[in-house]
Amino acid sequence: MGRLLVVEDNMQNLELMVYLLEAAGHTVVPAMTGQTGVDAALSDRPDLAVLDLQLPDFSGFEVRRQLRDAYGPGLPAVAVTANAMVGDRDHVLASGFDGYLSKPIDVKSFATAIDAFLPEELRGHPPVPRWSA
Ligand code: MN
Repeated sequence: MGRLLVVEDNMQNLELMVYLLEAAGHTVVPAMTGQTGVDAALSDRPDLAVLDLQLPDFSGFEVRRQLRDAYGPGLPAVAVTANAMVGDRDHVLASGFDGYLSKPIDVKSFATAIDAFLPEELRGHPPVPRWSA
């Protein structure tokens, strides 16, 4: 399991992503602005950054740039955005992101999709059903 930075300014989306990633066993560092996300990542390096692109202070692209300045390409980053325009994916990938997930968050596949960007030893486990022992 990994330590994941999640930057998202929509509280409902943030809570959903935190819930799904914690259910998979990850440790999540949440942030609701670009600056608090950058600060959290600089004080303790995450294994992966999950970044909304539209944030109140500066964009997810800028967060990505600052993390790359600090850590190089070895810190992977995934964009999560409602933007569904043609060409967005190319722009995101050309901006140093390792991948792109669209909102709305797909509850069933989100944690698995995130795992694809983590090394094998840091991947999550399937959610444990509430009714299991
Ligand atoms: Mn946003």
